[in-house]
Amino acid sequence: MRKKIVAGNWKMNLDYNEGLGLFSEIINMVKDEVTGTQEAVVCSPFIHLHSLVQMAKGYNKVAVGAQNAHQAESGAYTGEISAKMVKSVGAAYVILGHSERRQYFGETNELLAKKTDTVLAHDLRPIFCIGETLQERESNQYFDVIKTQLVEGVFHLDEAQFAQVVLAYEPVWAIGTGVTASSAQAQEIHAFIRIEIAAKYGQEIANNTTILYGGSCNPKNAPELFAQPDIDGGLIGGASLKSRDFIDIVKVFN
Ligand code: PEP
Repeated sequence: MRKKIVAGNWKMNLDYNEGLGLFSEIINMVKDEVTGTQEAVVCSPFIHLHSLVQMAKGYNKVAVGAQNAHQAESGAYTGEISAKMVKSVGAAYVILGHSERRQYFGETNELLAKKTDTVLAHDLRPIFCIGETLQERESNQYFDVIKTQLVEGVFHLDEAQFAQVVLAYEPVWAIGTGVTASSAQAQEIHAFIRIEIAAKYGQEIANNTTILYGGSCNPKNAPELFAQPDIDGGLIGGASLKSRDFIDIVKVFN
C-alpha cells in the first residue's frame, strides 16, 4: 500500500535557531502522539538541513527534505546548492517544481525534468509539484495543464525511477490564500493523476504512488481532504510553521 506522507514546506522562514526550536517540538510530538505508519517530512531552508537530520536520528517517522536543488552536478553556479550536497547531509527528499519556483524563478517543465533526473541520480526522492493557476481553472484548461506538467516533468522516467517520485497536486490559487480546494475538487484531480500514471506505468505503480494535496491545508480541513481515496497526505506551507497545527495534520492518519 502506498505511503501516507505529510510534508511541511517552511519556505524562506525561520532563522537557524528558530528552525531548530520548531523541529525539536515536532520530533517530540511525533514521538508522543503519532501512532500510525505515516511519515512526517520537514522541508527546510538549506541552512537547517544538516542539523535537522542529526536531530531526527532515531525517529523513524520523521524525514528531512530540501526545497530545491540545481540540475547540474557541480560547477560555476554561484549561490546554488547541488543534489549531491543535499544528499551528503542525509536529507531524503527534495521539493521540485513548487509554483513559487515556477513563478518567481522561471522554472519550466523542461528544467524540472533535468532537476528530477539529478535528484534521483543522488538517491533523493523528489516531491514533484503540479497544479493550475486560477485563470487556467476558470478557463477549464486544468486537466491539460496538469497532464502537460506530468508528461514533460516526470513521464520520461523509467518505472524504477518513477517509483521514487512523490507527487503534490497544488492548485496555485489555493497556495497561501486561505482558499482550499474542496475535497471533491481535489479528489477529482488526484483520481485523474492516478489514471494518467496507470496509463503510462501500469495500475500497480499508479496504486503505489503517493499523491499529496497542497494549498491552505490546515487541521480543520485536512480530515475531509485526506479521507478522499486518492489523497495520500499533504504538502503544508503556513500551517507547518506551528508545531501543534502541523502535528494535528500529521495525526489525521493515526
Ligand atoms: C505550499 O507552499 O506548498 C503550500 C501548500 O502553502 P500553504 O499551505 O500555505 O497554502
